[in-house]
Amino acid sequence: MSAVKNTSIIIAVAVVALLPALWSNPYYIHLMVVIGIYAILLLGLDIVVGYVGEVSLGHAALFGIGSYTAGVLNFQLGVPFLLAVPASIVVTGLFGALLALPALRVNGPYLAMVTLAFGTIIQILINEMTFLTNGPLGLSVRKPIWFDHQITGTDYYYIVLVALVLTLFVVQRILKSHLGRAFEALHDSPIASDCMGVSVYGYKVYAFVLSAGVAGLAGSLYTYSEEYISPNTYNFELTILFLLAVIMGGRKTRTGPILGAIIVVMLPNVLSDIELFRKISIAIAVIAVAYSAYAVTTRIRSLKQVALPVAATIALAVSGYIMRDISEQRLTIFGVMILFVVYYLPNGIMGFLRGIIVRFKPQWIHRHIQILEHGDQQHVWSVPDHPVTAGGFLLEARNIVMQFGGLKALNEVNLNISKGSVHGLIGPNGSGKSTTMNVLTGIYKPTSGEIEFNGKIITGATPSSIAGEGIARTFQNVQLFGEMTAIENVLVGLHHTYRHSLLDVVFQTPRCRNEKRSAEVRAASLLQFVGLLDLANEEARNLPYGKQRLLEIARALALNPSLLLLDEPAAGLTAPDIKELISMIAKIRDQGITVILIEHHMDVVMSICDTVTVLDFGQKIAEGTPAKVQSDEKVIEAYLGGSTNAA
Ligand code: ADP
Ligand code: MG
Repeated sequence: MSAVKNTSIIIAVAVVALLPALWSNPYYIHLMVVIGIYAILLLGLDIVVGYVGEVSLGHAALFGIGSYTAGVLNFQLGVPFLLAVPASIVVTGLFGALLALPALRVNGPYLAMVTLAFGTIIQILINEMTFLTNGPLGLSVRKPIWFDHQITGTDYYYIVLVALVLTLFVVQRILKSHLGRAFEALHDSPIASDCMGVSVYGYKVYAFVLSAGVAGLAGSLYTYSEEYISPNTYNFELTILFLLAVIMGGRKTRTGPILGAIIVVMLPNVLSDIELFRKISIAIAVIAVAYSAYAVTTRIRSLKQVALPVAATIALAVSGYIMRDISEQRLTIFGVMILFVVYYLPNGIMGFLRGIIVRFKPQWIHRHIQILEHGDQQHVWSVPDHPVTAGGFLLEARNIVMQFGGLKALNEVNLNISKGSVHGLIGPNGSGKSTTMNVLTGIYKPTSGEIEFNGKIITGATPSSIAGEGIARTFQNVQLFGEMTAIENVLVGLHHTYRHSLLDVVFQTPRCRNEKRSAEVRAASLLQFVGLLDLANEEARNLPYGKQRLLEIARALALNPSLLLLDEPAAGLTAPDIKELISMIAKIRDQGITVILIEHHMDVVMSICDTVTVLDFGQKIAEGTPAKVQSDEKVIEAYLGGSTNAA
């Protein structure tokens, strides 16, 4: 599989490297240089747009900052190319941090708004700061001279090609590492991501800064390619063009950005040459008809679904023959084509192609089983990161009040959780059980009260830092990373075991490979513990509901917690599965992990809990051993309602 992939990459690079020999026209060579530069930028933009799922309207401005950093350094100070380029990466990365640190604190379309404003401001600043940038007149820069040789347009083509291949390589390694997994996880489920110690805010900023650095590289290469830069280039239109290119090419792929760059650079040229336009539009129509015929006969699509796109592509091809000159209509056609792709191919062109071509899924499963044959259960339980001292309470919640508007979901609740115990939390629906869990894990900040965990006050700390202290949890409404496989979900929980840096990832150092391998072994053994090893490579969203709950437990255990919070783990489980769950909780407790268990199934609560706390309308109404609580008058009245198995 990867041999095929590597060979095709080598062939593709070789073909691209030979192009100037076949096509010596400087105009085409320049176009290809621009495609290469845009492709670099788009590879970075995809990290933000495709992986993290944020919209940046500031990438033209970041591209401009990269251009002007190189331009100013070279023009004003005579800094050579090989220093100006890295300087541009660093400066643009810093601007990215400046932008992202405040903007990403808030969720929603905030980043889009801030980057939009940023784009405008940067353009004004470039215009106004004439002493540096020469204002609207622009800056002239020459291509470098290396060893008495003036770099030509063709030489520069190869420089950009090397930069593109390096960017591709670096971006690919980052996205396939635990960092890329963190980006995907926070996009899939921000809450779960935070509760697994992967700070959503932190990793969004990380992604944006990386993306800005890459934009800086593209910008500086652009300066030397054009040899003249002026503020007007870096306008809002360019930003939109970049976004469209990523979306059209296909998000979350490496080929998509390259294809997107080819399209947005070539399309305006194609649209000014009627002969070329006719040929290409006919080719598109033929592909559309052929695919639709295939899709309809194999019932992937209905006739109704394909009718409009087929008609539109045919109309486009016919229009090429009706029109004598398309230069007047070219913006309209450009717009319609973009709209068409965005509407009909929501996953972009590469996403569409991937859907058609059968994908070979790597079968990691055998490898995982093999790994386990050497490793076994010893990997499931490792020493907790935060050893707890013997005796006393692991967690004390004092006078917790949680108010939502006029409703006190928790009213002066006190909880003392003994070390090594299984502590049940029961009560009717809406009594505040899940709210308690959300307060303990930092998702809600209590209105008043104090929480002490393992001798530390954690009230008001962020979910990811509380996770880092050693509290792991599952969710009542399952919060898995749906598009990731089961084992990848567990690997997100193991994020804290990856201590290596970005450079280790880029160079795949032994340290990086070792940590990766031991995390995989641990993940596989955790899956084995919850009985999901044979589903390791199944996407989480495809698992049956009960298995999803078990997967959440494995992921939570991956955090190496000293306290595990389970919110209705038995919901959706079959009777034999529930039995299995009870023994699983017992095993977890036997390893010294303290458990807080919210559960409606009384048999689970009664058989495993050491202490039970009963909530009703946000207040603690009883506490004690299961037997004592079960016979408590107040509890029977409020919760059990006379039956021993109330829902
Ligand atoms: P349960 O014991 O069933 O888990 P919850 O803790 O989910 O109950 O809910 C307790 C009460 O708090 C309910 O009345 C619920 O509607 C309310 N509540 C929980 N979360 C919120 C929220 N984010 N905003 C407003 N009300 C909430
Ligand atoms: Mg609940």
